[in-house]
Amino acid sequence: METLLSKITDAGLDPSSVSGEEAIIFWNHIRLHISTTPQERAHCYIISSEYRAELKQNQISIDELRLALDLLSLPRDVEDILTVKSSLSERLVEIGDYTAALNEFVSSSTISVEHGYIDEYVMAIIGMGNLCDAYGDHNRALRYYQKIESIDHAISSRSLRLRFKLHMVASLILLNRITAANDLLRECEELSILVSDKRLTAQILLYCAKILRAKKEYNEALLCLSKVQYSSTNIQASWLATMIRLEVAHNLNAVGKEHIASMILANTHKRIKHYSSPVLAKRFYDSLSSVCMTQGRFKEALAYEKKGYRIETDLMKQIPISELGASQLRRLSRFELQLKLILSEQENKELKETTEQHKNTVAQLQQDVFTDPLTSLHNRRWLDVKLKDLLLHETSFALLVVDIDHFKSINDELSHLVGDKAIVSVSHELASYFKFRGASCVRFGGEEFLVILENSDLAKAELHAENYRERIFQYGWREILGERGLTVSIGITLHRDGENTQRTFYRADKALYRAKANGRNQVCTE
Ligand code: GH3
Ligand code: MG
Ligand code: MG
Repeated sequence: METLLSKITDAGLDPSSVSGEEAIIFWNHIRLHISTTPQERAHCYIISSEYRAELKQNQISIDELRLALDLLSLPRDVEDILTVKSSLSERLVEIGDYTAALNEFVSSSTISVEHGYIDEYVMAIIGMGNLCDAYGDHNRALRYYQKIESIDHAISSRSLRLRFKLHMVASLILLNRITAANDLLRECEELSILVSDKRLTAQILLYCAKILRAKKEYNEALLCLSKVQYSSTNIQASWLATMIRLEVAHNLNAVGKEHIASMILANTHKRIKHYSSPVLAKRFYDSLSSVCMTQGRFKEALAYEKKGYRIETDLMKQIPISELGASQLRRLSRFELQLKLILSEQENKELKETTEQHKNTVAQLQQDVFTDPLTSLHNRRWLDVKLKDLLLHETSFALLVVDIDHFKSINDELSHLVGDKAIVSVSHELASYFKFRGASCVRFGGEEFLVILENSDLAKAELHAENYRERIFQYGWREILGERGLTVSIGITLHRDGENTQRTFYRADKALYRAKANGRNQVCTE
């Protein structure tokens, strides 16, 4: 999407400047003339379909989403495909094509399980549960929602988790399982603190009021409804606004304010005509009927009940409830197992990564403790350990002391920074020369280094020392030091059986001193 947006900007166009019909023309133009890949063309359709939906052109919106799907392919575009399918099913429900919507839910659930997308899986299941609720089979709806319970912890969106629980609460209330609904609603209240979505908070208050009404606590229910604060014009919100109005009317009626209740219902009637949801219309007629009933207006009550019944039978004809039966639920049980497996694999992987990371940290710390930061050679702390180890195992070794000649003058003439660079070069050469020779290299101090050659004799040690000295002499110092070169002097000795390492060092030092005294840039043995 980013590349498409930059192409649009490069063409001198501004997507944020258009809306409505103009936006549809704009994105059509982008698709035909600016986009170059199938995914980009799919994105143009997706955006256009959103504008279509806003303009209530639901059928074209659906067609465009289908065109987008044709341009996308698995597994590369899995996220886009799931998003499109989610919008598509929502719109299909809106136009009352429940069979097509169910197909989308089923295929979304399959794809999301195959690719390990928990949230999208949950949305598909909620969609199936909703269809059962719309059909009036709330027990079955609950069985769908319950399929989510075992993977609830893995839902990454808190708002989705809250929405899923609220769907359950609604079904429980409709089944008159008030205690269970109340318990779950308390969980929702806690969750909502972290979600801070006004619409979901309003929904919680609505269900709270419904529970209170079921317990005949009408004034408390009204108090609860008075706390609802939100304003929005989108479809879900107008659904919620209608539900809240109906709930207020029910409670006012129950506390003897029949007149106001009737007024509210009459007012709602006007709005509901513009609304296409048969589920909501059915709830409205049910409410009207029950309010009329308590007011003794039986004829009207019967008329409204008939209207509600008609809508209900239509819905029952349209919703493919047989496809939401036992075999569908069994399929989801299989998916549930598959998802649990994916989740436990993910958890294991994470755990492994954490221990791996921990190990790496420990290794890193060990390395830091024993490494000289400037040269990455071993430091003196490492040397102490190493020497003890050599003595303990009675390993014979030759000790080389390497010291840069006249180093102080490099610092003085060319700066400390250049001096550092020279030290680094000498170290790197040391490490690379001795790397494959069973040797350990140590930065002993300032510009002084040690090499420990295990199981070596003097001749071998002298040869390597001489090679290394020559290498440093020939090194391309011009880049760092300009006209002046750099040399090293090296003192060598062999560790003698049973002697203390201080003695070995003392001899190596003496050899180094001789190399310096003899004119530097040479190797001496003691
Ligand atoms: P010689 O040939 O006798 O070894 O002469 P030299 O100048 O190399 O010896 P001396 O011990 O007098 O000087 C060593 C200098 O190394 C002194 C100190 O300022 C410098 N030095 C020590 N550690 C570092 C370092 O980490 N970076 C730099 N740039 N200089 C350092
Ligand atoms: Mg020196
Ligand atoms: Mg020195």
